[in-house]
Amino acid sequence: MNSVNVSLKSEITSDVDWGRIRSDFPILDLKIDGKPLAYLDNAASSQMPQFVIDRLVRYQTKQHANINRAVHYLSEVATQEYHDARCKLQQFINAHEDREVIFTSGTTDSINLVMQGYGRKFIKANDEIILTTLEHHSNIVPWQMLANEKGARIRVVPINDNGELEIGEYEKLFNERTKFVGLIHVSNALGTINPIKRMIDFAHRYDVPVLIDGAQGAPHMSIDVQALDCDFYAFSAHKLCGPTGVGILYGKAALLESMQPYKGGGDMIASVTFEETIYNTIPHKFEAGTPPIAAAIGFGAAIDYLTAIGLENIGAYESTLLDYATDCLVQIPGVKIIGTAKEKTAVISFTVDGVHPHDIGTILNQDGIAVRTGHHCAQPVMQRFNVPATSRASFAFYNNKTEVDALVAGIKTVQKVFL
Ligand code: PMP
Repeated sequence: MNSVNVSLKSEITSDVDWGRIRSDFPILDLKIDGKPLAYLDNAASSQMPQFVIDRLVRYQTKQHANINRAVHYLSEVATQEYHDARCKLQQFINAHEDREVIFTSGTTDSINLVMQGYGRKFIKANDEIILTTLEHHSNIVPWQMLANEKGARIRVVPINDNGELEIGEYEKLFNERTKFVGLIHVSNALGTINPIKRMIDFAHRYDVPVLIDGAQGAPHMSIDVQALDCDFYAFSAHKLCGPTGVGILYGKAALLESMQPYKGGGDMIASVTFEETIYNTIPHKFEAGTPPIAAAIGFGAAIDYLTAIGLENIGAYESTLLDYATDCLVQIPGVKIIGTAKEKTAVISFTVDGVHPHDIGTILNQDGIAVRTGHHCAQPVMQRFNVPATSRASFAFYNNKTEVDALVAGIKTVQKVFL
């Protein structure tokens, strides 16, 4: 495999040369106002290794054509590469069949597909949909739209002061009206890893399907949708070292087959007359129009890249960074970490007494440090902790302790400037 500094999946963390892995990412060499970039906004979007960039260039320079529709050479190549990308995603999440993987434009689109395709068909007046306080807006708003349209009701699982779900309360919400559960795997705002297997199993006792928003789960741990037994799992390529504009929805084949298509158009049909349209089989039924072919192929390359390093290695390394950063930040007077769950990915949301998060982000930026400030599209989480916004440092496997040290120094500068 070109340009990948690790080739064996079986390597363990101690054998992975994380410094060399870092050199796979050209953007990390950037200087911002003469300061080395410390890119700590990975929960929003991760960076792309040269391997994926090269794959995109190869596609665009030697393989591009529209897929499915022609017998000419380039169309056949592009069709095959697009299909191969689907198969890579299938293997990555251990889906039973490749037709259970639908390419979408990202997590948001995947969730909307389930809302439109499953929700609008099967959820009726007075039915209940369970969501959690930790959800990203993209797993709240579509369900609210549906609930408003149908006269259904949203029930919300609360969280404790550490930012962990109250599982006892979740279980108490179930009754004969419960028809759907939407559950974030890992909180983008706090990093909390939810006990999704246990929650899926509980929902299934009531025959209730569960959609997992895996936008922050898939980049940091290996996902086995068959072992989880989730009904739907959604994530975006751009948080997994891939391009923007593409993601997937995994769905169990029987469920996908029972659903109505969300978008109509070319490729999603078997036949069309003005009297009637017969829909194509899955996954095509849900992929109307020209899909993001280049991005999907780039996504496949990103999956190759991450698989070569190994998701277990990635998770283990990132958690050493999390521990180090947490230890450093708790020692700074006036800094408060929001989200202290026992099970966390490498996300640290924090406030600094007396300083608005936007000012923190602005001053850190002057030192080349990229963090996100705001409500992180999770306003219910902010409301629960009674803060308008937080600053969030989110780490990837190409970050290092030097960057954590830069963050710590930057926060001290912020305090000097404002306090
Ligand atoms: N869910 C979670 C948990 C996220 O972190 C994000 C991205 N911030 C989304 C959904 C939406 O992803 P996208 O913008 O790629 O559709």
